Amino acid sequence: MPDVLLSAQHLTKRFGGLAAVNDVSLDLWRGGIHAVIGPNGAGKSTLTNLLSGDLVPTAGTVTLGGVDVTGRSPEAISRAGLGRSYQKTNIFLPFTVRENVRLAAQSRAQHPARWLRRATTFAPTNEQAERAMELAGLVARRDAIAGTISHGEQRQLEIAMTLATAPQVLLLDEPLAGMGTAEAERMVALLQRLKDGHAIMLVEHDMDAVFALADRLTVMVNGQVIASGTPAQIRADAGVRAAYLGEEQA
Ligand code: ADP
Ligand code: MG
Repeated sequence: MPDVLLSAQHLTKRFGGLAAVNDVSLDLWRGGIHAVIGPNGAGKSTLTNLLSGDLVPTAGTVTLGGVDVTGRSPEAISRAGLGRSYQKTNIFLPFTVRENVRLAAQSRAQHPARWLRRATTFAPTNEQAERAMELAGLVARRDAIAGTISHGEQRQLEIAMTLATAPQVLLLDEPLAGMGTAEAERMVALLQRLKDGHAIMLVEHDMDAVFALADRLTVMVNGQVIASGTPAQIRADAGVRAAYLGEEQA
C-alpha cells in the first residue's frame, strides 16, 4: 500500500477575479519530499495555506491520513498531524529557543486548562520539545534568546517549533530564504534528516537545494500546474525550461 499522508484534489482558490490556485492536485508520501516551485505570484503560498486550513478552498478537497479535512480550522488540521512553517517568521524574539519550542509544543496539548499551568510541569510536552530541538540541531543553543541567534538558526528554530507539534506532514514555505551558503547547506542536511518518517512539501526558490532534496516536483505558473514529475523529468521538460528554469539562468 502506498503511504499517501496528504492528498489535494482539484484545489482552486479565487480572490475576486484572480485564480491564485487553479485546479491543483498533488499527493504527499511518507518518506518523500515534494518540492513546489514557480516564480513569485505563482500561488505556492496560497496552496500551502489551503493545505494547512489557513485558507478555505473555493473548490477541491484536502485529505489528511484518509480523512477529508477540507474547510477545517488550522488548529484541527494541526491536531490531525499537519505542521507548517511560515514564509514570515513566527518566533517570539525576547524568549529563549527552548521557551519558543515549548510554547509550540503546548499549543497542541489537548486540555485547555493546560494553558493555565506552568510550562515546566508538563513532561510529555517538554520531551517533545527536547526531541524537536535535537532533530533541528539546536540543543547547544537552547538557552539563547531567540532574537540574538543567527538568521539560519532562527529558521532552524522555526522547524523545531513545527516539529514540536509532532506532525506527520510538514509544509515548509521557503525555509532557505535569505540564507548564506553554509546556512543553506546546514538546512538541506536538516531537511534530509526529516525525510524519514515525514511527508514533506517544500516550497523553495533555491534550485540547488530543491534538486538535491526533492523526490518529486510540481511546477506552478499563474496558479496552474505546468508540470509535475521526478527531478529528471522536470529538468528535461521544455515547457518548464522556457517558463521558469531558463528564466533563472538568464
Ligand atoms: P507565491 O507564494 O507563489 O509567490 P502567492 O500564493 O503568494 O504566490 O500569490 C499568488 C497570487 O495570489 C498573487 O497574484 C497574489 O497577489 C495573490 N494573492 C495572494 N493572497 C491574496 C489575498 N489574500 N488576497 C488577494 N490576492 C492574493
Ligand atoms: Mg510565497
